[in-house]
Amino acid sequence: MAEDLIKKADGSDFGTTMAGNFIHDIIDKDLQNQKYSRPILTRFPPEPNGYLHIGHCKSICLNAGTALKYHGGFNLRYDDTNPVSEDEEFVGSIENDVKWLGFQWDKLLYASDYFGKMYECCEKIIAAGGAYASSETGDEIKAGRGTLTQPGVNSPYRDRPAEESLQIFHDMRDGKYGDGEMCIRAKIDMSSPNINMRDPVIYRVLHATHHNTGDQWCVYPMYDFAHPIEDAIEGITHSICTLEFEDHRPLYNWVLENLKEDFPEPPQQIEFAKLGLSNTIMSKRNIKRLVNEGTIESWDDPRLCTIAGMRRRGYTPEALRAFCESVGVAKAGNLVDYGQLEFFVREDLKDKVDNRMVVLEPLKVVIDNYPEGKSEICVLENAQDPARGTREVTFSREIYIEQEDFMEVPAKKYFRMYPGNEVRLKGAYFVTCTDVVKDAEGNIVEIHATYDPDTKSGTPGADARKVKGTIHWVDANNCADIPVRNYSYLAYPNEETGKNDFDPGSRQDKAAKAEISLKDAKAGERFQFFRNGYYITDTVLSKEGEPVFNQIVGLKSSYKK
Ligand code: ATP
Ligand code: MG
Repeated sequence: MAEDLIKKADGSDFGTTMAGNFIHDIIDKDLQNQKYSRPILTRFPPEPNGYLHIGHCKSICLNAGTALKYHGGFNLRYDDTNPVSEDEEFVGSIENDVKWLGFQWDKLLYASDYFGKMYECCEKIIAAGGAYASSETGDEIKAGRGTLTQPGVNSPYRDRPAEESLQIFHDMRDGKYGDGEMCIRAKIDMSSPNINMRDPVIYRVLHATHHNTGDQWCVYPMYDFAHPIEDAIEGITHSICTLEFEDHRPLYNWVLENLKEDFPEPPQQIEFAKLGLSNTIMSKRNIKRLVNEGTIESWDDPRLCTIAGMRRRGYTPEALRAFCESVGVAKAGNLVDYGQLEFFVREDLKDKVDNRMVVLEPLKVVIDNYPEGKSEICVLENAQDPARGTREVTFSREIYIEQEDFMEVPAKKYFRMYPGNEVRLKGAYFVTCTDVVKDAEGNIVEIHATYDPDTKSGTPGADARKVKGTIHWVDANNCADIPVRNYSYLAYPNEETGKNDFDPGSRQDKAAKAEISLKDAKAGERFQFFRNGYYITDTVLSKEGEPVFNQIVGLKSSYKK
């Protein structure tokens, strides 16, 4: 059943199963030993307190891909047990992002729907003497917990009779205590070498309105208590999470051990290394800060590695999945070069999109021997692949070329336009620069050239002479003015702090000149701007007939596969 559900959004075969990793080795063994009498079931459990990013993308690929590989199931579960940091805005964005990536969940669930069951579970453990009510303050609990080298000390309430603790727990639920006045602690081992096992708090009083359950509850479970129960209720077999939870696994197991009657085949937690990406700012908390400060536009700023940002930037789900697959799943640190992500974006786009000629930094060229008022058609190929057809652009006496395609005094090995040098204008004629016009400050305002009428591309003998440079151009008398946003990396490492600092120069706005047809580009349409890279019509800023373009990725890669 899940097989039909977990597939590419376009219905084609699923490509990414994150095949062959240590987690799959564990599952293979479990299947061999018939550890579970139910099918393999995984989940992606985001906390709805921000937008998803590339790290979550990897977790989604891994969980959904694993379910597919083992013909199991995959749940999308909102891990919304903390009432204070969550927001409906994020809930909708998460579903949208998961679908866009090409995944469909079997069940969409809210951890908060299990508050009743969690409460019962806690009652059960208290009644069995496995937990106790404590009125210690947060600071007192912390102080009694000990350190890595020193064992903790027992709470004065540790031996409180179970019935008394149970009564207090009911009173907590009935609102008889204020925030922080009472809590439930698991009775485990105050001298455990693992501090998480030193009688952790599992339930607390919190008078807060929850986005799903409203004011129904004023007691809430702690994450470490809630998560194993969520997994167990759903019948998850393999609860895959990131490495920082490794030290919490004994507690995960303790909770389920104490609920054996309810959950005879408990799920198991398996940790893998978080994906880190160079030259970006990734965690929700830090992205939230950038958004709130107004440093970047929003959660979908195209420089961000949020799924919403990467979608707006023009990255494709196929590229993101291929990237996650290439990164693999490991136990050890996983900092990946941003160039690796760009490599997969480029790979995916190279056969999919058509060319256009766009001049990002225009320099006007007047072709003195071309008749004034004349306009003619030039035919250009749409792509490397001739099967993608041709298109027409106009050519006239005034054109624009890139400023960097002209040098008054050419550098060594510079084969583009300079005085006296002949170059090919792509799809048009050979031209030779004859003159440079400057303003009073000495800035070049335009250049003059002559063309050879016998060299039009596609006509017999057009290439009789050899020229070393071919440059792109746009007809100045028939072009579109388009705003283009080029991007460099969002952040660079700060040597002192070791953290990545936002680069205020990471967006470069250009007033570009483009082939007239780009005026009608639709939001979300992608192109290769000849020699400049891949671009997409921005879905937020573009208006009908007034497209704005985002640079997706440049043409050159420094990444070696
Ligand atoms: P962040 O720390 O970036 O804010 P988070 O871990 O708080 O993220 P959650 O909503 O708690 O985000 O995570 C949902 C799931 O995504 C969890 O299972 C978590 O382990 C996984 N996940 C989060 N970040 C990464 C990452 N960088 N690489 C792989 N998986 C991740
Ligand atoms: Mg979190």
